Amino acid sequence: METCNWYADGKWLEPAGGEYFDSDNPYTGKAWARIARCDEKDANIAVQAAYRAFHEGPWGRMTPAERGLMLRRSGDAVARHADRLAEVETRDNGKRRVDIRPGLTSWLIDSFYYYAGMADKFEGAVIPTGRDNILNFTRPEPFGVVAAITAWNSPLLIAIWKLAPALAAGNTVVLKPSEFASASTLELMRALEDADLPSGVVNVLTGFGTEVGAPLVEHPLVRKVSFTGSVAGGTRVAALAAAGVKSVTMELGGKSPQLVFDDARLDDTVHGVCGGIFPPAGQSCIAGSRLLLQAGIHDAFVARLVEVASRARLGDPNADDTDIGPIANRAHFDRVLGFIERARADGATLACGGNAVDPDDSGGWFIEPTIFTDVDPESELARAEVFGPVLAVMRFDDEADAVRLANATDYGLAAGIWTEDHRRALELANRIEAGTVYLNNYFDACTQSPVGGYKQSGYGRELGWEGLRAYLQTKSVWLSTARRIDAPF
Ligand code: NAD
Repeated sequence: METCNWYADGKWLEPAGGEYFDSDNPYTGKAWARIARCDEKDANIAVQAAYRAFHEGPWGRMTPAERGLMLRRSGDAVARHADRLAEVETRDNGKRRVDIRPGLTSWLIDSFYYYAGMADKFEGAVIPTGRDNILNFTRPEPFGVVAAITAWNSPLLIAIWKLAPALAAGNTVVLKPSEFASASTLELMRALEDADLPSGVVNVLTGFGTEVGAPLVEHPLVRKVSFTGSVAGGTRVAALAAAGVKSVTMELGGKSPQLVFDDARLDDTVHGVCGGIFPPAGQSCIAGSRLLLQAGIHDAFVARLVEVASRARLGDPNADDTDIGPIANRAHFDRVLGFIERARADGATLACGGNAVDPDDSGGWFIEPTIFTDVDPESELARAEVFGPVLAVMRFDDEADAVRLANATDYGLAAGIWTEDHRRALELANRIEAGTVYLNNYFDACTQSPVGGYKQSGYGRELGWEGLRAYLQTKSVWLSTARRIDAPF
């Protein structure tokens, strides 16, 4: 079993309390690593290190172009360590290897390169005040110490979406990965040691939300909090940050609808809908977990969908031919099964799946791709984020009905619209309350395009220019060129 310490001020450290917790491999259900269980004392060490690095170290004196070079070197370091990063992410949270290598690791590298290019391109402005003898200009400035708290479903990607823009803007960062999947973030830190960032610029604090996440958010020297996780976790973190009047970005959950009209291309749409939820076993924030079908195509569509979903191969996330990997942790596996049991009790019709399985007898946590039809729009399955391979199917009659159902949710992360009528697609895209809308596709994203939520799916944006601005605050500077200042009275 590997022992993983935590990282601050350029050093690997044992936790102050001397305790470790197990990290499990979801394919075997067995512990494979011990992770440092940090507490408030460790949080203070990490934040102090980040604060010193911001105010006293070479980081704050670097030119923007030099910072950009550091980010480029970080991207190069990730490229050199890509195989190991992929191996650890798959072992620790069960993400399929085919999704990580080369796809996800290339994305990580690109994100560093993209924000490396931005480090010396954000500019202030000269403001047309209309006053004589006054020069008023703005300076975009970093916040200082950023607390970046991440979820377990895609630890590396979520970490880099925060880390790269925060560093490009000139901040220093304390990363706090989920207690359910910390190992790949620690591996990322090992990779970044190769980039020779000054000590304290990036720190990784491991442990539980209440034990170390909360003291991190509350620490008075932290000025910006970027959080990815559940609505429950996010509201607690936002409340803690509000008490210290800290800037916050919130990337929370979703219950994203896929609207399918009767003119949609059947097979493409079935593949798009399946691909929008099942490959990561539904463990994606933008999973299209509500399928809204126009009444006329409902039965034929469900029949084809069940056929395609039922032939998915569950198994080893390292194998090239695995379609769906395991559920990332035991607690979540039980939680997803609970949703399935309650959906049955609520009267939804099980069209396929619904069972826990162990396809390779490996001891892993697998759940079949599960489709429920006749789901009551008021039921738990229609409203709550399951975050598992469970699709809730409902039917609608016309556009107005479809929009009403699509927006009947507290969430607003993403939506898909499938129709050959492009006028309708664009019109409905405007009426759907979601941060991302896909028309005749689903699940795409890239570093250049902002992502984020409407309603309870969060606020603020990651990626693109907006992702950088989230880590900057604006200072307005007034210079008087007057020869004398008039007496006020
Ligand atoms: P979670 O809220 O349980 O935990 C997220 C992180 O917050 C963890 O690191 C946890 O330790 C920490 N945390 C929890 N309580 C805390 C507290 N009181 N103070 C400080 N830190 C605390 O979420 P999760 O189960 O890890 O992640 C799954 C959720 O994340 C899903 O809802 C999913 O949709 C969402 N998610 C959103 C996005 C997005 O970009 N919108 C991306 C991925 C995942």
